[in-house]
This record gives sequence, C-alpha cells and structure tokens, in this order.
Amino acid sequence: MKAKIVVLPGDGIGPEVTTAAIEVLRAVARRHGHEFAFDEHPIGGLAIDLYGDPLPPPTLVACKNADAVLLGAVGGPRWSDPKSKTRPEQGLLALRAGLGVYANLRPVSVHPRLAALSPLKNERLAGVDILFVRELTNVLETSRLWRETVTRVAQEFPDVALEHQLVDSMAMLLLTRPSAYDVVVTENLFGDILTDEAAALAGSLGLLPSASLGDGRAGLYEPIHGSAPDIAGKDAANPLGAILSAALLLRHSLGLEAEALAIEQAVDAVIERSELTADLGGKAGTRAVTAAVLAALDASASTQEAA
Ligand code: NAD
Ligand code: MN
Repeated sequence: MKAKIVVLPGDGIGPEVTTAAIEVLRAVARRHGHEFAFDEHPIGGLAIDLYGDPLPPPTLVACKNADAVLLGAVGGPRWSDPKSKTRPEQGLLALRAGLGVYANLRPVSVHPRLAALSPLKNERLAGVDILFVRELTNVLETSRLWRETVTRVAQEFPDVALEHQLVDSMAMLLLTRPSAYDVVVTENLFGDILTDEAAALAGSLGLLPSASLGDGRAGLYEPIHGSAPDIAGKDAANPLGAILSAALLLRHSLGLEAEALAIEQAVDAVIERSELTADLGGKAGTRAVTAAVLAALDASASTQEAA
C-alpha cells in the first residue's frame, strides 16, 4: 500500500527516536512491498526558533493531509521561561485540536525480562497488560457524565466486567494489583498521571508508545516520554517507545496488523537479548538498539520465508 506519513521530530531526543522509528518503518515497507512517503516538518521549540510559532500553518496543513503523523517530543530548557508568550507544548495541544484526535491509547505491559527494573515485587507484575484509554480534550467537571455514559455503553457489552474507580484509589490499585485490569478508561489529566505511574511498572518511560485517534483513520503517534534534554544528542535515548509507536501507526491508521506485530515481536526479541539503553539497565546506544530491532525484523522475516 501507499501511505503519506508526516514526521515531526521536535526537540531534544525527538529527532533521535523518530529517526529510529523511520528506519524501522522503511525496513517494514521494503519487506512487505509498501510505499511510505515521509515528510518532515518543524514543531515545538524548533518551530518557535524558525518561525516564532510552535505549530506553523504549513506543519498543520501537512498533518491534516497525511495518513498518519509520527511525533518525537517537544520542549526543553531553552523555551521553558514561564513568562514567554509562545511555548513548545502549545504546538502539541494545537496539533491535537487541529487533527480532532480525542482518544489517546497507551498500552502498558511488563516484559518478564524487565520486571527486575520495577520497584514492585516481581510476583505482582506477572501478567500485567493494560490498555489505558485517555480522553484528550474534556475537563474535570465531566466526571458524572463520564460515569453515566460508561455505565450505559457497558450494558451493550455484557461479557466485559465493569468497575468504577476514583483516581486516588486507582493510583493505589495500580501498585497493589496491576494485573487485575485489561483496560483503564480515564480523563486527560488522570490518564497522564496514571500512565506515568504505570510506566514504572514497565521499567522505563522510554519504552511506552501512544496513539491519538479521532473519528477517521488518521492518527497521531508518539512515545509517552518527553524531550529528555538531559540525554539529548548523546546517542543515549531509548528508541523503543518511538518504534512501538510506529507499530501502533501501522495497526490503527494503515490497518497493517501483521506488520505491526512483526515490529512488536522484534522489540520483544531485543529485550529478551538485553540489547538495551541505560534507562533499562543496558549498555547499548540509540543506534545500536535500533540496529538490533532491524536485525530481529530481518531474522523473523527469513524464518518465515524458510518455513
Ligand atoms: P522526560 O520524559 O523528557 O524525561 C524524564 C526522565 O526520563 C529524564 O531523566 C529522561 O532522561 C528520561 N527519559 C525520557 N525519555 C527517555 C528515553 N526515550 N530514553 C531514556 N531516558 C528517557 O520528562 P521531563 O524531564 O519532565 O521533561 C523534559 C522536557 O520534555 C520538558 O520541556 C517537557 O515540557 C517536555 N515534555 C514533552 C512531552 C511531549 O512532547 N509529549 C511530554 C512530557 C514532557
Ligand atoms: Mn506525561
């Protein structure tokens, strides 16, 4: 298939991790006979430096015309003066609004190899596999409407067990019985806080992907971490969150399930072999981890051809 993918590398480690994700997408395209066109645009701090605008109009137009958007991260100390009129994260908020994406999917699972990195006891982590669905635009006063709507919709799905939790008790339950939940549906701010907490279960913020979807197929895909200015430009950033975001892009915007799974399995293989960056206790750099993912993709493709 042919697809137009807009890439917004952004600031800090954003360019390093999006480069890694693009390399993986190119490898998948070659292997499966797809044509992906990548079109790069500035957003965030870089766009403020270039155009005085964290989301320049040509960037938004390109995103609206794309099949999917892959974003790195925005922000950094250079643009963090609270008094300045333009701030990098305004670009991100305007982009979400401009694309009409309102549902943010954040899958969190714990690879057994990484359980030791979690502050929780290993036995609590067995089988943790949660999909957080976070509202991207509503505000806090809607809690009651939220509860009523969820209760009503749940009646159409009798085989789904529904449990309501307030956010404070959910914060505790995530630590005491994280394997009890398959899906957590929550509001914007609560979702942001709970998924950062859940990231500690998985081992590192650098590992977790996200997808932001609206009514159509197009979507915005980004790792949940920020621009990590402390490690930017040092080949130290974990690229797996961005690479797994590319897998979500293939699944949700392009409908390429087999290709998405191939990436996820390649990432699992790399974790299995401990070819990891420092945040996950490894010694490899961004480029070496990316090369390991590409090698794992190649290996699985040749196994399939041989079979
Ligand atoms: P952060 O996620 O950038 O970093 C938090 C810690 O995690 C840092 O120690 C960092 O080195 C580490 N880390 C993050 N991603 C990593 C990766 N891929 N590999 C290895 N280590 C990683 O959050 P922060 O420090 O609170 O914010 C830094 C900047 O990023 C700020 O300007 C903030 O506004 C911005 N930010 C942007 C987004 C976004 O673009 N969606 C999200 C959060 C924060
Ligand atoms: Mn966050």
